[in-house]
Amino acid sequence: MNFDVDSIRNDFPILKQTTKSGKPLVYFDNAATAQKPQCVIDAIVKFYSEDNANIHRGVYELSDRTTTAYENARQVLKNFVKASDEYEAVFTSGATEALNIVAQCWGADNLKAGDEILLSEMEHHANIVPWQFIAKQTGAVVRAIKITPSGELDIDDFSTKLSEKTKIVSVAHASNVLGTINDIESIAKQAKSVGAKVSIDAAQSSPHMLEDLSSELYDFVSLSSHKCFAPTGSGVLYAKREILNSMRPWKFGGDMIENVAWAGTSFRSAPERFEAGTPNIESNIVFAQACKYLMSLDIEAVEKHEQELLALLSSQLSEIEGLRIFGTSKNKVSVVSFAVDGVHPNDISVMLNNYGIATRTGHHCAEPLMNTLGVSGTCRASLAFYNTIEEVEFFVKSLKRILNILR
Ligand code: PLP
Repeated sequence: MNFDVDSIRNDFPILKQTTKSGKPLVYFDNAATAQKPQCVIDAIVKFYSEDNANIHRGVYELSDRTTTAYENARQVLKNFVKASDEYEAVFTSGATEALNIVAQCWGADNLKAGDEILLSEMEHHANIVPWQFIAKQTGAVVRAIKITPSGELDIDDFSTKLSEKTKIVSVAHASNVLGTINDIESIAKQAKSVGAKVSIDAAQSSPHMLEDLSSELYDFVSLSSHKCFAPTGSGVLYAKREILNSMRPWKFGGDMIENVAWAGTSFRSAPERFEAGTPNIESNIVFAQACKYLMSLDIEAVEKHEQELLALLSSQLSEIEGLRIFGTSKNKVSVVSFAVDGVHPNDISVMLNNYGIATRTGHHCAEPLMNTLGVSGTCRASLAFYNTIEEVEFFVKSLKRILNILR
């Protein structure tokens, strides 16, 4: 299969627009949220035009059809990460909720005073704050693996911090700021050697379809729908069924119960155990549609294209005097964060908007990482497979013009 970026772009109607600046939209904010292909938009319309009903309890045709679509979607999502039969896919509202379930529902009964939770300095707040909260409740301690100057995990520091006290290692597969792809397999192997559980935040790696996440070394894997070209409001927590069924539920109500009586209530097994109330039926079903779209692409060609864009962007940016790129690991997804001496990153993003270019500025929900990097924020260009070489060249040209004005 060949990768034809023009035909890919035709799948994404939003990319055809002209911005108020009179320039075509250059969407470089994919790490915040990705755009949606026509088949995803069509699937949303189809759902509400043809299939909308509540799931699981209806005995009529429409509800039956929706229930089947919902459970099929779960299967597609399992296929997407090649999860084995031992794993269950729990629908959540996003990666944040998935990580909160791990911290709260696993942490509450498996952490005690003196235990250690090992994260890394490059984590998103979604993989920090839930752990701080459960640490406070249980007396466990949160520790963070240091990063090297090139923005990789410091493996020596990991080895030093990993001990019998470590009960869980929870790290990002790919950093939303540095772009670094962490060697999660080797991290997981080391974590297992001390008996620790492993949780992978795959929110930023899944849109780039990195190697599959099916290794049995991973106890928990969290994914986000909207980063994967699907609607907002959905996510998945993959975990071994056995572990999920040993965990306490976290929200209570319909669908997650086995029996309810005034004397007490019993709970269903996973996945329903963690899916109280009416879920985001449409978004979960359409998430599967987006995954099918991704699986239909030539993954190797996608990766090659994204890496070409990344190499061009990185090399052209590094030629700009006073510009510093944060995250120069060899193994990166197409995310480039940078700052320019004497220029506020926000001014850069605001002025890029005048050229129709969408980027993001700030701490990117990674304040501890900003402290490590010694900056208050960065400007971030995050690319997807529908971006082009011409867009990268236009971005760099526009940035140079802006810096001539600002400096
Ligand atoms: N983890 C990482 C690395 C992220 O970049 C994000 C979102 O930016 C999240 C988790 C949270 O994902 P969601 O928006 O699905 O809650």
